[in-house]
Amino acid sequence: MYLYNSLTRTKEEFIPNEAGKVSMYTCGPTVYHYAHIGNLRSYIMEDVLEKYLRFAGYEVTRVMNITDVGHLTSDADTGEDKMLKGAKREKKTVLEIAKFYTDAFFEDCKKLNIKTPDVVAPATTCIDEFIRVIEGLLEKGYAYEAGGNIYFDTAKLKQYYVFNDFKEEDLEVGVREGVEADHNKRNKADFVLWFTKSKFDDQELKWESPWGIGYPGWHIECSCISMKHLGEKLDIHCGGIDNAFPHHTNEIAQSEAYLGHKWCNFWFHVHHLNTNSGKMSKSSGEFLTVSLLESKGYDPLTYRLFCLQSHYRKSLVFSYENLDNAATAYKKLVTRIAALQKESAGELDETAFAAHKAAFCQALDNDMNTSLAVTALYDVLKAKITPATKLALINDFDRVLGLSLTAAAERLNQTETEEATAVSDDPFLREIEEQIERRKQAKKDKNYALADEIRNALAAKGVTLIDTPQGTKYQIEG
Ligand code: AMP
Ligand code: ZN
Repeated sequence: MYLYNSLTRTKEEFIPNEAGKVSMYTCGPTVYHYAHIGNLRSYIMEDVLEKYLRFAGYEVTRVMNITDVGHLTSDADTGEDKMLKGAKREKKTVLEIAKFYTDAFFEDCKKLNIKTPDVVAPATTCIDEFIRVIEGLLEKGYAYEAGGNIYFDTAKLKQYYVFNDFKEEDLEVGVREGVEADHNKRNKADFVLWFTKSKFDDQELKWESPWGIGYPGWHIECSCISMKHLGEKLDIHCGGIDNAFPHHTNEIAQSEAYLGHKWCNFWFHVHHLNTNSGKMSKSSGEFLTVSLLESKGYDPLTYRLFCLQSHYRKSLVFSYENLDNAATAYKKLVTRIAALQKESAGELDETAFAAHKAAFCQALDNDMNTSLAVTALYDVLKAKITPATKLALINDFDRVLGLSLTAAAERLNQTETEEATAVSDDPFLREIEEQIERRKQAKKDKNYALADEIRNALAAKGVTLIDTPQGTKYQIEG
């Protein structure tokens, strides 16, 4: 499998540290609000990556943090704690807010068939770990205390900007929005590992530490939670592209300084979901949620298909028109599969199965080309192979695509059966069906007078017949 690695800016063959096993870390949500569908684009594409690795035979261990403390409204260690801001907005405690939005996040994930990672760790449950690593960084001379806070000293590194070509001037106050001068910092790029004295006196969650009562910075949590559960060498670290700098840059700085060796091999960054008016953001402006899409009648899985139809390394523009297209495509897929389920299955053709599976894997092996993988699914539906082979392939591919295709098709067939049963149980509906059949025969016999008579007789009973290309339908008055 070839994956684009943001660290080397090339597509590289994916080789894990330990044969057959993959350790994978994902930056989890900051739980001060609902996740928007942009956040969920990242989690959908990361879920496909995880599922494909498992599909390819790897034993995957995936860990995710929940940011319930320390993520400030500005990336430059200034501004308010996002959690505290959320709590004030809703007049709740920070922990109440965290619990509510963590649950809401996993509800959304469930609706989108996003698997819950093997380990989910809220930052507030790992404080001892953060303190231990910060102590280590101080001992090794990579961190310093100033004005009560503990900072990471970026000047101690050979290379700090690992992902992009940021220059120190880019961090000049006034150049980046929301950056305020922090005179405690030795270098502009330094960042806080632990806050004790800060302007946020109303910080609700604080812990004892060797440096006084305080709370952790945002970046340290991901390094520590990853190292705690996945050890000193990580195979893949995921997140949205906005996290590459400063969050992931700082994670690499502190983890490698602490460990004394390379930490993570592959950096998998999902590009943004935008609207026509710009990036969708949780902390500013209006944003779209899964519940909102549901309230407008969309099955959340149509949003998943919408995401799969584009490459994760391209930014994606959301519009209802585009979502409508995905909804139509999803409905058509399910209808075609439902029809297949009703056909006589025939034998499984092993050779055809292997050939189609190879095409599907080839798409995903090439830096997770999910849109080509979806095309491979359409190719299965079009192919001249037995329904048994098609259904087996669809089930197999859906282990990765996560579109619940077989289940949705079964539900569709079941609804049709129930509707048919309802008709046969109701004498009035049965009568209508019988008359429609009689009228069909009359038209076949060119006995249009009888056909009209039947139509009129039904109309007198409040039943209007509508002839459509799919046959005659009816509407009952009232
Ligand atoms: P947050 O809850 O804000 O910490 O973000 C959770 C995840 O969503 C992170 O991996 C972000 O990089 C990612 N993310 C944020 N905004 C977007 C967006 N508009 N499109 C895709 N991913 C995003
Ligand atoms: Zn993170």
